[in-house]
Parts: sequence; structure tokens; C-alpha cells
Amino acid sequence: MSLLEVRGLTVTYAGGAAAVRGVDLRLEAGRKLGLAGESGCGKSTLALALLRLLPAGTEVTGEVLLDGEDVLAMKWGRVRAVRWAGASVVFQGAMHSLNPVHRVGDQIAEPILLHRKATPAGARRKTGELLEQVGLPAARAGAFPHELSGGQRQRVMIAMALACDPRLIIADEPTTALDVMIQAQILRLIEQLVTDQDLGLIMISHDLAVLAGTCDRLAVMYAGRVVEEGPAARVYEDARHPYARALSAAFPRIGDAASRFAPRGLAGDPPDPAALPSGCAFHPRCPVALESCPETDPALREAGPERRAACVLAGPPAGEVRAAGEEPE
Ligand code: SF4
Ligand code: MG
Repeated sequence: MSLLEVRGLTVTYAGGAAAVRGVDLRLEAGRKLGLAGESGCGKSTLALALLRLLPAGTEVTGEVLLDGEDVLAMKWGRVRAVRWAGASVVFQGAMHSLNPVHRVGDQIAEPILLHRKATPAGARRKTGELLEQVGLPAARAGAFPHELSGGQRQRVMIAMALACDPRLIIADEPTTALDVMIQAQILRLIEQLVTDQDLGLIMISHDLAVLAGTCDRLAVMYAGRVVEEGPAARVYEDARHPYARALSAAFPRIGDAASRFAPRGLAGDPPDPAALPSGCAFHPRCPVALESCPETDPALREAGPERRAACVLAGPPAGEVRAAGEEPE
């Protein structure tokens, strides 16, 4: 059984905007899945839907099986327990997620007291251990958020997410507000924790390079759908879908100083989820669109070993077809 299996997830906001459209995803323990796309593509909505954190009135259909149990069908009491012990979220911008008037140690201890029924002394001990796990001295428990740097605050957020020993971590743009050096440190920390504790990770970012450097697999979203999915390095280096290709050209590798300042941007804006283009939703921006693209919305289909793409032009690349039938050179 997979740690997480998402089947046909569809999210429609109260006004009728289709933010997520029929997404299927699968994640095993110890594995890292990157979810990429521009803002407004539905990736954050998808993350919120996994833990039923969307506003009332939002219609969510499909299945979200966490260890085989459908989160969308759970009673609220169970959902609350699952939000800490099953899966927890690290959001971007720790300054806004931490309460400025409480010491960070108390904020980490709160869910341990609440959901783990720990004694105050037990919660304090666990808080110290968690701080050390994320590379902070246990004594920093006494600090207020404004006394910490941005990177330290993000470490506190990660400690908080780990407080009730979740099986799955969902990290939404966890390093966006940080400078490149600190960003790399936080990414290594998340990777290390996932490996050591055999967690599952879903990392969300608009930056394909960051995801490719951290994750095993990538799913690229556009207009609420996954348009490409496959092994991270293959998707980043040789995307099959024209949108995924443009996204990977827009975000060169970390440390690739030469291309860093000359990203090839993507023309046009992502579509309004309340008024999606007909056919393939990418067609107004697609540099290789065919005459038929405004009429046909291609399904996600095989585009090479362990790879899928939703584009009429995305078959398996010639090299990969040959590799399946012949001895590699
Ligand atoms: Fe471009 Fe057509 Fe492929 Fe859509 S289906 S990505 S418009 S070529
Ligand atoms: Mg977002």
C-alpha cells in the first residue's frame, strides 16, 4: 500500500473556479515528490485539499488515501488527528505562520500536549529534541520569533511539523523567502529528515530547479491538471510537455551562475481557473500548438519509461524507445 494515493482529485471553489481537475498522484514512504507550476496552477490548493484545509463551500471530490484511509471521507475528529500525526504542512513565510507573542518552544510543544497527551515535562523534552534535529540548540526554545533569523524560523516551522511524528510532510514553498545559501541548507535538512525518518515528502514550488535538486519525482501542474510526471532529473532535463519545458528553461540550476541571470521567461499569463481556454488549456501560450489543440484536451499518457505527459506531441522520446528494445551503448 502506498503512503499516499490521490485519485481523481477535483477542487471547485464556491464561485465555480475549477482549481484542481482530476489529479492522480502516488507517493511511497521515504520518497520525495515535487509539485511544480506557476502561481495559480492549483498546487497549493491541491496541498490544502489533501488535509481538508480549504474554506467551507469548496467542492472537493475524488479520493485522498493516506495509508489506505480516505481523508476526504473522514469524520472531523479523525481529520484533526491526521493533520498532525498523519501528515503536516510547512508553509512559506515562517514569520506569518509563527505567533509573534509566544516563545517558539511553546508553539512547538502545543501540538505535543494537545495531540500526544504528553506531560508538560515530556513536551519540553520532545521540543528540545526536535530543535536539535533541525539544527538549533535546545535553548532556543525560549526565543521569540523576532529574535530568530529567517532560516532559524523556518527550522522552527519544520520542528513544529515534525512534532507529532507525521508520516508525510507537505512543504509549500518552504524556502521562498530565504537567500540562496540558507535555502540550500533548509532543503538539505528536509531531505535528511525525510530519509532518516522514512517520511514521505511533497514539496511545492514554482522553481523546477529547486525541486529537481531535492525530489525523486516531479509532477508539473498547469491550469489545475498534472501535465507531466516522471523521474525528477528526466523531467527537469528533458521535459516532454511544452509547458514543463518552458518552466525548466525559466529556472536554471542552483549555482548555475551564467544562466541564472538570463532565464527564458514564459510568455503570457496562466489562465483564470473560472474561465479556462478550450481544449488544451495551455494552447494560447504554447509555442508548438497545432490547429487541433483548441479543440482537444489531451489525457495524461505514457511518454517514456515511468513518464507521463498530457500533450498530443509528447510520445516517448526516440532514445528511450530504443533503450527499451536494444542494448544500451
Ligand atoms: Fe501545446 Fe497542443 Fe501539446 Fe497543448 S496539446 S501542450 S497546445 S502542443
Ligand atoms: Mg502557492
